Amino acid sequence: MARKPPFSEDPFQVPPDTLGLSAEEMRRLGHKVVDMVVDRFERRNAEPVVTTGDAADLTNQLGGALPNMPMDPDASLDLMAEVALGHMQHGDHPRYFARVPGPASFAAILGDWMGTGFNSICASWGGGSGTAIVENTVVSWVAEMLGLPSQTEGVLLSGGSLANFTGFCVARSEVGRGVAYLMDQTHASLPRNLRQMGLNDEEIRILPSDETLRMCPDVLAASIEEDIGKGLKPMMVVATAGTTNTGAADPLEAIADICEQHNIWLHVDGAYGAPAAITQDGREVLKGLERADSVVLDPHKWFFQPYDLGMCFVTRPGALDRCFSMNPEYLKDVQADNEVNYGNRSLELTRRSRALKLWMSLRTYGAQSFREGVAHGIALAEEAERQLRAAPETWDVLSHAQLGIVCFARNGADSEDHAKRANRLSESGFATVSTTSLHGRTALRLCTINPLTTAEDIQRTLELLAAPM
Ligand SMILES: *Cc1c(COP(=O)(O)O)cnc(C)c1O
Repeated sequence: MARKPPFSEDPFQVPPDTLGLSAEEMRRLGHKVVDMVVDRFERRNAEPVVTTGDAADLTNQLGGALPNMPMDPDASLDLMAEVALGHMQHGDHPRYFARVPGPASFAAILGDWMGTGFNSICASWGGGSGTAIVENTVVSWVAEMLGLPSQTEGVLLSGGSLANFTGFCVARSEVGRGVAYLMDQTHASLPRNLRQMGLNDEEIRILPSDETLRMCPDVLAASIEEDIGKGLKPMMVVATAGTTNTGAADPLEAIADICEQHNIWLHVDGAYGAPAAITQDGREVLKGLERADSVVLDPHKWFFQPYDLGMCFVTRPGALDRCFSMNPEYLKDVQADNEVNYGNRSLELTRRSRALKLWMSLRTYGAQSFREGVAHGIALAEEAERQLRAAPETWDVLSHAQLGIVCFARNGADSEDHAKRANRLSESGFATVSTTSLHGRTALRLCTINPLTTAEDIQRTLELLAAPM
């Protein structure tokens, strides 16, 4: 299509910045930001993995009186990098093994920067048709990578918490009110979501996990039968594709069979582990994922995206829109009847285009690089397990390497000792790991999903953890 002509032949000048920076200043500061970010990437390996500040000290440096008059932006950028952004956990550091790392890739960061720079919006068709198609595109690309059915729809949210909440709302809107089945290893944000949706305690079943910390299909089936016998209506089963604690994946095929038999909505929380399905080994472990009615994946964890980004997929066409559509008079001009309006797919109306970063990074690196990156994380946890098993006098493997996570104990250590070792390691700045508890047994935990992490990183980390207190 030809470009629209300008209003006037007069090239009248518009001030470039709403609040007064000159174009020259904008370029200079923008280039400085790029340099600061790339400089950090180049020396990331040498920075402390976590730095926590003192609240009074941080407030002293970052707070102060409301700046009524302009201040020097260079000084503010330097202060931001050094103090505000310097006192964080660096989830993209190669030796960040705690909770869930966030190994963001640079092409994805560029996508986010462009979206912010152009003040991108993806809410209605008329308000952002280009960004809507980008979101459609990344939803179908990732659905294809995961092996979900071709009719799958989706929406991008801030993270797993909101993506799971969105899937739960769709489940209830499609099947009506009833009981939801979770287990004791389900992420804590999920029962919180259900309570805030208005489910009462009688409608939330937290089933005990089996000895491998998975949902047990027999326990699930018995609980469902019991509820049906009591005249209750099962609404949804929430399975986990890779728990945050151990990476264990629930037996999705067996759970899908039970859901099919009773016509219950199957929601799979793959916020952590769903990316494993793009690799050959992971696809085996997550067999049955393609039978879910809704699936959640957190690209800001194991899909190389900067915070924040969660995805909710729904395999039943139209269900997202049936749940969240609203058509008020003030949106009639921009909402198209036959095209997607992303403001009608979750509780967010005005929303930036979170799809740009995923689009940019999948195009820049290719799905094959994502596959290799995820496979590296799976293999590295297996390497960590090999190293642990090679030192049985020191370590006891409590949960074998599963989807990038391994849990272990130091022989004879109690939870206090584990906490002290983990804390000493974090304070050294070299690496950071998590402590957790598995069926009451205290554990240390490594999550190894950063493609930059090496076997030597793991070896040195285990040495530091094992050193005499
Ligand atoms: C991280 C996580 C969540 C929560 O996702 P956020 O992005 O932190 O909101 C939910 N479920 C699982 C399994 C997770 O690992």
